[in-house]
Amino acid sequence: MSVRPGVVYLVGAGPGDPGLLTVRAVELIAGADVILHDRLIPHGALDGARDDAELVYVGKRPGEAELPQSRIEELMVEHARAGRSVVRLKGGDPFVFGRGGEEGEALAAAGVPFEVVPGVTAGIAAPAYAGIPVTHREDASAVAFVTGHEDPAKEDSALDWDALGRFPGTLVLYMGIGRLPEITERLIAAGRDPTEPAAAIERGTMAGQRAVTATLAGLGDAAARAEVRPPAILLFGKVAARREAIAWLERRPLHGRRVVVTRARAQASGLARTLEALGAEVVELPAIRIVPRVDSAQVRAAVDALHTYALVCLTSPNGVRLLFRAMSEAGRDARALASATVAAIGPGTAEALRERGLIADVVPERFVAEALVEALEEVDVNGRPVLVARASEARDVLPDALRRRGAEVDVIALYETVAEAPEPDAREAAAGADYVTFTSSSTVRNFVDAVGDGYPSGARVVSIGPVTSGAVREAGLEVDVEAERHDLRGLVDALLADSGARPSAG
Ligand code: SAH
Repeated sequence: MSVRPGVVYLVGAGPGDPGLLTVRAVELIAGADVILHDRLIPHGALDGARDDAELVYVGKRPGEAELPQSRIEELMVEHARAGRSVVRLKGGDPFVFGRGGEEGEALAAAGVPFEVVPGVTAGIAAPAYAGIPVTHREDASAVAFVTGHEDPAKEDSALDWDALGRFPGTLVLYMGIGRLPEITERLIAAGRDPTEPAAAIERGTMAGQRAVTATLAGLGDAAARAEVRPPAILLFGKVAARREAIAWLERRPLHGRRVVVTRARAQASGLARTLEALGAEVVELPAIRIVPRVDSAQVRAAVDALHTYALVCLTSPNGVRLLFRAMSEAGRDARALASATVAAIGPGTAEALRERGLIADVVPERFVAEALVEALEEVDVNGRPVLVARASEARDVLPDALRRRGAEVDVIALYETVAEAPEPDAREAAAGADYVTFTSSSTVRNFVDAVGDGYPSGARVVSIGPVTSGAVREAGLEVDVEAERHDLRGLVDALLADSGARPSAG
């Protein structure tokens, strides 16, 4: 087992981009009994935690006293002694300005076994995402990580400012944005060149990262004008000028675009990750949630009789996943489908089948029920048993058409999609979106119900296809972009084409 009971893991969660969590961090989060976490951890970092895991926020809360460090250390010891596996999840690297050293000492003193999982530290990652290498053969052969938390005017400062003034390389300051003017003044007084390139990077690697560059002497004003706020990294050194050539984040095709993704939670992440990889800021509004219904008598009967169907139609990747779950619970495997013709409504569904060792016999060119009906014309269903496995609230186009052709159709509902109330943050972010994407009719209805009068009035609506577009119009909205290919890739292509045709705000 990769996570041991009674052990505490001091884990770095990286600087904010969920993709910068280490494989080990993800594995420990997925296995831990208890997770004690800070505020500055990546969005969605805890999504992979076990349903029954205890998640404890131990960071600062606005208007409330911070949990004392000693209390955090006690909690780790108490949980570990009770035989639980404990992940102490901290932003960036646990041993870089994260008090991880103290926590390790406390655990060692208490005789509690622990491990340390380093993380990607903000002082390297934020500059990297801003196109600034902290070392460079020509510019910097050394780099110093410095806390900017201290008052530089303090007589007995723990920092040797004169040494920092002489330091032959890049200075990276954490926690310094609040004291930026004093810091630049002190560095210049200590002998650093006032014209040295400098940068401030806010929310490095997260959605909405911003970077400001100036000279050492000018950074205070530049950051104030841009209203740079914590968390931010300050960087002083010749390498800051490299940003001009190396900046890459801002050059991605969807940079500066905020896009709402309204799939069900279980399915949202694929589309969200694709859009993020293109540079978009994604707001996941899981307007609908999948509730499996694989225990119903109807599903069990169909699964028991699976080998008797001449044709089995699957209408979503979730349908495939849940049919296989139901089969596995009944002690059956893919061989139950050996003699049936298997039809998938689109490539996502076909891919879900392929992952389970089945190649779909029929996949229509267009991914709507009507097209599947057409594609199935070749298949002789007259007088033969057919299974349509799908969501409970799906349209009846497919079963009706098959019945008209003489098939004995059983329809099973493998899952239900239910509306979910969005979190206030997500709602607020959605209100300022550039695009709203709709991938099915139910996402339209649920999204409109959920956001109410907070509907993002300036957003362009992107629909996956004609049926969804119909639902958009029914809801009183306009469709700005409709995908030519009615699948997620088609939707992304359509959004990219539309976005390329208009000036970016960001
Ligand atoms: N252990 C963390 C640092 C914790 S101290 C690490 O290794 O990254 C907190 C400071 O880290 C913040 O004040 C800020 O200076 C910096 N920081 C953390 N995340 C950041 C981010 N995403 N962008 C810019 N600075 C960040």
